[in-house]
Amino acid sequence: MLKRLWNSLDFLSNDIGIDLGTANILVFSKEDGRIVVREPSVVAIHKDTKKVRAVGFEAKRMLGSTPGNIVAIRPMRYGVISDFEVTEAMLRYFINKVSRHTKLIPPRVVIAVPSGITEVERRAVKESAIHAGARDVLLLQEPMAAAIGVGLPIEEPVANMIVDIGGGTTEVAIISLAGIVYAESIRIGGDEMDNAIINYMKRAYNLMIGERTAEEIKIKIGSAIPLDPELSLEVKGRDLVAGLPKSVQINSQEIREALTDVFNYIIEAIRLALERCPAELSSDLVDRGVVLAGGGALVRGLNQLVSNATGLPAIVAEDALSAVANGTGVVLKDLSFWLSEAS
Ligand code: ADP
Ligand code: MG
Repeated sequence: MLKRLWNSLDFLSNDIGIDLGTANILVFSKEDGRIVVREPSVVAIHKDTKKVRAVGFEAKRMLGSTPGNIVAIRPMRYGVISDFEVTEAMLRYFINKVSRHTKLIPPRVVIAVPSGITEVERRAVKESAIHAGARDVLLLQEPMAAAIGVGLPIEEPVANMIVDIGGGTTEVAIISLAGIVYAESIRIGGDEMDNAIINYMKRAYNLMIGERTAEEIKIKIGSAIPLDPELSLEVKGRDLVAGLPKSVQINSQEIREALTDVFNYIIEAIRLALERCPAELSSDLVDRGVVLAGGGALVRGLNQLVSNATGLPAIVAEDALSAVANGTGVVLKDLSFWLSEAS
């Protein structure tokens, strides 16, 4: 009764959806009808006092320019929540940032969480969000949010496969009748691609590069299948032998080779899902194929590689980086229904 009254006052608050990603946090505002925040999932804390000093862009910016007593943490890095206090601080920061001060009632919040988190972690995220100022919280499994966000017909009695390649994890899921039939999360994603590039540059050129440079290489010339023409890029770093700055010219073919292992892990995870999938759903996938989402899906030709390896059609979602957040946005439209289903 009280709850119904509370919910009838929806217009006094602005509900929000949060994609708690391993690399990026996105916030969807119901009132604005769009994503209003897109920031790195980074928190800067003081080494000694453990106090949170900055969140998001500001935390990332502080990294290079502060004395050694501030450290940056990516609390969601591997798709498990490594530090609850930091996660809570992060949620509080974003909830406050988006909440309208003119609104009288705190927001209801939909949070997309990695499918691999434990029940204890789920409860902790919920509690953190309540502490951080949410009035009610709905947790949504990330692959479900992504599937909704890219507009897959999840409620139909057919199978849909979504592969969300994020920074720290790749989530492979098969969804049917609005339920998750299969979900698996591996700790391989865009970060691992960056690491593979760092290692390759060391091995092949004795060149030390940082994570930012590795990411830039991946985005500018990374590919999963041969390109015509192949791309090249000048890369600056530090020579490991001489200790001096050095620049080398690299091409997309060598970077593709450096990334092969990472691609193979992702393909293995997809193959496993197909093997474990009930036969009748499996036949749906032959026609409907695989939808790739998340920033990692943007590597040139990755969908083609997946298609070659599985024999299934594979497409990249239109706005791959926003799929999960857009999914929370769809859920926000009908939040009272979803909350009643969940309880
Ligand atoms: P998460 O959901 O884990 O926060 P995202 O879906 O936001 O992750 O994707 C972040 C990852 O995508 C990072 O590793 C980033 O380097 C990578 N990424 C972003 N854009 C591109 C691109 N154009 N090509 C390849 N990788 C990309
Ligand atoms: Mg994500």
